[in-house]
Amino acid sequence: MTGLMAGKRGLIMGLANNKSLAWGIAKQLAEHGAELAFSYQGDALKKRVEPLAAELGSGFTFDCDVSDMDALDAAFDKLKERWETIDFVVHAIGFSDKTQLRGKFYDTTLDNFLMTMNISVYSLVAVASRAQAMMPNGGSILTLTYYGAEKVVPHYNVMGVAKAALETSVKYLANDLGPQGIRINAISAGPIKTLAASGIGDFNYILKWNQYNSPLRRNVTIEDVGGSGLYFLSDLSSGVTGETHHVDAGYHTVGMKQEDAPDI
Ligand code: NAD
Repeated sequence: MTGLMAGKRGLIMGLANNKSLAWGIAKQLAEHGAELAFSYQGDALKKRVEPLAAELGSGFTFDCDVSDMDALDAAFDKLKERWETIDFVVHAIGFSDKTQLRGKFYDTTLDNFLMTMNISVYSLVAVASRAQAMMPNGGSILTLTYYGAEKVVPHYNVMGVAKAALETSVKYLANDLGPQGIRINAISAGPIKTLAASGIGDFNYILKWNQYNSPLRRNVTIEDVGGSGLYFLSDLSSGVTGETHHVDAGYHTVGMKQEDAPDI
């Protein structure tokens, strides 16, 4: 353990199980001395999150559905009851109706478009607004995005539009929060098999395509994401804000299928 996160404490939002990107990040933060709180969505996840939090030495967990502003207020009140200030927040949350993460983007319904934007984008704005009030000495906020924001990835549909809005929100929030010494960045992770990813149509094809066509010729892991998460949430990245940083084995740099890529 290094002391990279010693004396720092923060909130992890979006842990569902030990495959979650939030888990990859939380593990590295704890390993480097951070004190962690966890919020989960509903009772079903409570029993999964509590033992994982305990594994990292945390008994501080609470419910928070980020689409409910009263629930968000209550969660931050709970955080403030125990901790006067925080140093970081991880926002690893996204959601859309999985029946619309396949087929045509133009078939997205208004209800699902609004819900997807609410849970996957507005929640970051709402979290940042509440978190900054607890960061009088500066801080770091991190969210998770995907390449489908930049280029069309089959089936990603409305989630791609939401991630584009999320990445732009990061820039606007960075500009708002910069004068307070609060940084906010996004990691654009390559495809990883998680609960959320299992809702995306033909996800196994996306995984194989990335594995065969990325410069590193492999898929990334939650440990890869965790390492970069540690960088963004520690002082190692003290001069970096408003950034979308790819942790995708280099896939976003490639313009064509690799010559050595097998057929899928
Ligand atoms: P995951 O299923 O482990 O995590 C998604 C989390 O979002 C869950 O904990 C879920 O409870 C939470 N969530 C959904 N709706 C919520 C709500 N209303 N209130 C509170 N929490 C809510 O999957 P993951 O892949 O680890 O996803 C984390 C983030 O990483 C998401 O933003 C996702 O888009 C992003 N991401 C994932 C991949 C991938 O391939 N897995 C790639 C790039 C980016």
